[in-house]
Amino acid sequence: MGTVNVSREYTLKEKIYVIALFQGMILTLKRFIDGFFFRKHYTIMYPEQKRNYSQNFRGMHFISVDENKTENCTACYLCQTVCPAECITIVAEERNPATNSYGVRKEKRPLSFDIEALKCCFCGFCEEACPMDAIKLSRNYELSVTSRQEAVYDLKHLKREVKGRG
Ligand code: SF4
Ligand code: SF4
Repeated sequence: MGTVNVSREYTLKEKIYVIALFQGMILTLKRFIDGFFFRKHYTIMYPEQKRNYSQNFRGMHFISVDENKTENCTACYLCQTVCPAECITIVAEERNPATNSYGVRKEKRPLSFDIEALKCCFCGFCEEACPMDAIKLSRNYELSVTSRQEAVYDLKHLKREVKGRG
């Protein structure tokens, strides 16, 4: 694999890093004065207060369902194929022909559908590629977990991931 040399010459101001150090201290002092004397705050009291993110914000995925709570996904693998982070893993199975009232368009379903959220870069390619509008990105950004395993979301979780559906 080739390497890219990104080294560059530092300017005199960058070499005398003390200037940047003082600039940082002045900014900190300014923020302190703003907050202490003028009650002007630059941070919010999360989670009591939340910021308004853009309508285009891409958060955690969910799998849309129909009126019978059946996933719209037909396990076509397009999202898994297009995903640049390779964080979608699908195992397909045939829908039960006796209960499949959807016809040939939905002859398959995901037996399992896992997304490793820690690998995902939230590019939205999976949503764009999906021919069934089955996988969508919500506006939910509260994804803190205590282990890597908890960040692997399965079909059951993705079907009930409702917060901030957009
Ligand atoms: S948002 Fe991008 S990286 Fe994340 S699962 Fe979809 S295609 Fe993969
Ligand atoms: S979510 Fe959409 S693109 Fe992905 S397997 Fe299901 S139907 Fe295909």
